[in-house]
Amino acid sequence: MPETAGPPRIGVLTSGGDAPGMNPAVRAVVRSALQAGAEVFAIREGWQGAVEGGDDIVALDWDDVSGIMHRGGTVIGTARCQEFRDRGGRRRAALNLVRHGIDRLAVIGGDGSLTGADLLRQEWPELLAELVAAGEIDEDMARAHRNLMIAGLVGSIDNDMVGTDMTIGTDSALHRIIDAVDAISSTAASHQRTFIVEVMGRECGYLALTGAVAGGAAYTFIPEAPPADGWQQHMCELIQRGREAGRRDSVIIVAEGARDRSGRPITSADVRQALKDNLGQDARITILGHVQRGGTPSAYDRWMSSLLGVSATEDLLAADSTSVPSVLGIHRNAVIRTPLIEAVQQTRAIASMVAAHDFEGAVAARGVGFSRMVATFNALAEAEPRVSPAEAGKRIGIIHAGGLAPGMNTAVWAAVRLGIDAGHRMLGIQGGFPGFVKGHVLEFDWGDVEGWTALGGAELGTRRTVPAPEELYGIARTIEDSRLDGLLVIGGLNAYEAVQLMYEERRRYSAFDIPIVALPASIDNNLPDWKMAIGADTALNVAVESLDRLKQSAAASRRCFVVETMGRTCGFLAMLSGLAAGAERVYTHEEGITVSMLEEDVRQMTAAFEQGRRFYLAVRSEEAAQYYTTDFLARLFEAEGGDLFDVRALILGHVQQGGNPTAFDRLVATRLAASGIEELDRQFAAGVSEHVFAAESDDEGYLMKSFKEFNDLIDFEARRPKDQWWLALREVARKVNTRSFADQPL
Ligand code: ATP
Repeated sequence: MPETAGPPRIGVLTSGGDAPGMNPAVRAVVRSALQAGAEVFAIREGWQGAVEGGDDIVALDWDDVSGIMHRGGTVIGTARCQEFRDRGGRRRAALNLVRHGIDRLAVIGGDGSLTGADLLRQEWPELLAELVAAGEIDEDMARAHRNLMIAGLVGSIDNDMVGTDMTIGTDSALHRIIDAVDAISSTAASHQRTFIVEVMGRECGYLALTGAVAGGAAYTFIPEAPPADGWQQHMCELIQRGREAGRRDSVIIVAEGARDRSGRPITSADVRQALKDNLGQDARITILGHVQRGGTPSAYDRWMSSLLGVSATEDLLAADSTSVPSVLGIHRNAVIRTPLIEAVQQTRAIASMVAAHDFEGAVAARGVGFSRMVATFNALAEAEPRVSPAEAGKRIGIIHAGGLAPGMNTAVWAAVRLGIDAGHRMLGIQGGFPGFVKGHVLEFDWGDVEGWTALGGAELGTRRTVPAPEELYGIARTIEDSRLDGLLVIGGLNAYEAVQLMYEERRRYSAFDIPIVALPASIDNNLPDWKMAIGADTALNVAVESLDRLKQSAAASRRCFVVETMGRTCGFLAMLSGLAAGAERVYTHEEGITVSMLEEDVRQMTAAFEQGRRFYLAVRSEEAAQYYTTDFLARLFEAEGGDLFDVRALILGHVQQGGNPTAFDRLVATRLAASGIEELDRQFAAGVSEHVFAAESDDEGYLMKSFKEFNDLIDFEARRPKDQWWLALREVARKVNTRSFADQPL
C-alpha cells in the first residue's frame, strides 16, 4: 500500500484509435474506484495529457461520468503522442502523474498504448529518482509512490489483441458493418449486382471474416488466410455458381490489409477488376471507413467494458510492487488476465507470421474460434449448390421449438448450406412439434434459404409446446415417413424438454433412436452450459435501445421509469439490459422482491432526486415476483415520490423478440449450426444414435453433452439452469450504476 496519508489515486486514460465502449469502461473505472474509496483522475487526450499535465489531468466524480454510456468515442479524448515515445516525454508524464499523487493507471488502448504504459512502469523508479535529483519533486513524494501500477484494457475495433476473445469496440463495429452489408445486400439483390465492401483491419481479418459470415457474403479476403493463386477465377466461379443456384446479391468483403500468398496487397479495385475480366460485371465498391469506429456502443460493448473497468479498478487497488502488470480481457464472458508484455509480444508475433507468409500459423494463433470460423466460411462459400446429395448422404430434419429467437433463421440457413455441402439432404419441419406430429416436412435446396442469414423471425415457425405423450406416435411416424436419419432441434427450454422426452421414450419408439442434437436459441437465455443462446444478444440490444430512448424522453422532467423486460423467471435480460443502460435498480426472480428491499429502494430513490438527479431507472424482469408487479412498483414509487418526481411504467413486451439478428447472434447461430452438422456427421460415421445438446468448452469451443445430464443441470421449478454465469454481473451493475446514499442524511 502507498505510504500516503490520503486515499489511493487512480488515473484513467484512453489512447490510440478510439472505440465504442471506451466510455463505459472509463465510467466503470471511475465509479467502482469511488465506491471503493479511491480518488480518480482522467488523463485527457491519452498519453498527450500525461505529458502536458495541467488541465489535462482532472479529478472525476460520480456525476462527471453520467450520461456517457451510450456515447461513441471517448469523452476523455484520445491522441497519438510522439513525445511519449521518447524517454524525455515519459519523464514529463511521470512528473505530472506523481505530482497529482497518481501511481495507478487504467490504460485503455491498443498494443502501442499498452507498450508505452509498460515502458513508463519500468522506468518509473528511475525517473522519480531523477526528478528528486533535479529538485522537481521531493523525496517524500517519490517514496510515497515508489511504483507505478498498471491495468491494461484493450480498446480497438479490430479485435487484434491476444489475451481476449473480444476487444472493446469490435462488437459495435460489427453492428455498423452488418447494418451496411444488409443495406447493400438489399439493393444488390434488387439489381442482381455484385458489391465489394471494404472494412477495417490492416493486420487482423476478424471484422472482414465475421462480417462475411454474418452478412452472408459470397467471398472474403483477410490478411491471415490469403487465397491461393488464381483467386480471381476461383472467386468468379463461386459467384457464378451462387447466381445459378438462386442468389440474387453477391457481396464480397475485403479487409483493408488483404493480400495474396506472396504478400502483395489485394485491393478492392483488384477485386473489381477480376470481376470485370472474368464475368464482365461492373461491381460497385463501398469503403466503410470511419463509420465503423463511430456510433453508440452495442449492449455487449457496454456490459463487457463495465465488467472490465470494475475488474481493472480491483486489480489496481490490490496491486503492489510485486504485481505483474496485466491486460484484462474476456474469455467466455469472464475476465482473464494475461501479462501485458506477453499479450503485446504474442499480438506482434502474429503480424510477423503474416509478414513471413506463415498463414497457417497466423490463423492458428488467432485461436480456435477464428480457425473454425475460417473453415465454416469456406464451407458456406464453397457449398456446391447444384450437386445432388451423394449416395452416402443422410436425411437431416431441422425443427424449432420454444419462443421465437432472432437468429433462428440464420441457424437454419447455415445448417442447410453446411449440410448440403457435406452431402446430406436437408428437411425443414414446419410449425414446431405440432407440425412434426402432422408430418409437415419440406426439403430445402441450397437456394431456398437465400437471404435467411439476416432475417428476423423464424420462417419454419416455432411453437412453445412440448409434445404430449400421445403425440409421440405421430412424431415417430413422421420420422419414419420422411426417412429422417438425424435431427437438429433449435430452440429454447421447450425444445430441450422435447428432446429429453424423446430420449426417455427411445426404447418405446425405435424411430427416436437416431442422432438428435439440440442447439440453444432463446431470448430468455435460460439453457444449460451455454452462455449466450441464439437471440439473447438481439433481445438485449433491443431492450437497451428502448431504455436509451426512455432516458432521453425523460430529460426534461424528474422521472422514475419502471420498465419490465421479458425473460420470465430468468433475470438475464433484465440484469444485462439494466447494466448496459445504466439502470439504478434491477429486480429479478433470482433475487426476489421483498418489502424491506422496496423500502430501501424508495429511500435511495428519494435521496437521488433530492441530490439533483433527474432520472431513475428501475428494470424489472417479467416474473421477478408474483405480487409485486411492475404496476405495483410504479404506484408505490409514485405514492412515495410525492412532488419530488413522477413515475411511469412500461412493459417492453414482444419488441424484444423482433428485429433482425445482431451480428453476434448470427455468428453464434452459424457456429452452432456448424457444430450440429459436425456432431451428426460424427454420429453417422460412428454408427451411434445419441441425444445431445451443445455446451461450451474451453479448448475446443464447444462439446456435446448427453441428455442424460440434462435433468441435473436445470432447476425445473424456476425453469432456468442451476448455474447462471451472469449472476456475477449483479455486483458490477451495483458498482457502476447504483450510487449509494447510505451515509447521506435524509
Ligand atoms: P490502435 O490499435 O488504435 O492503433 P494503439 O494503442 O496501438 O491503438 P498507437 O498509435 O500504436 O495506437 O499508440 C498510441 C500511443 O501510445 C502513441 O501515440 C504513443 O504515445 C504511445 N506508444 C505507442 N507505442 C509506444 C512505444 N513503443 N513506446 C512508448 N509509447 C508508445
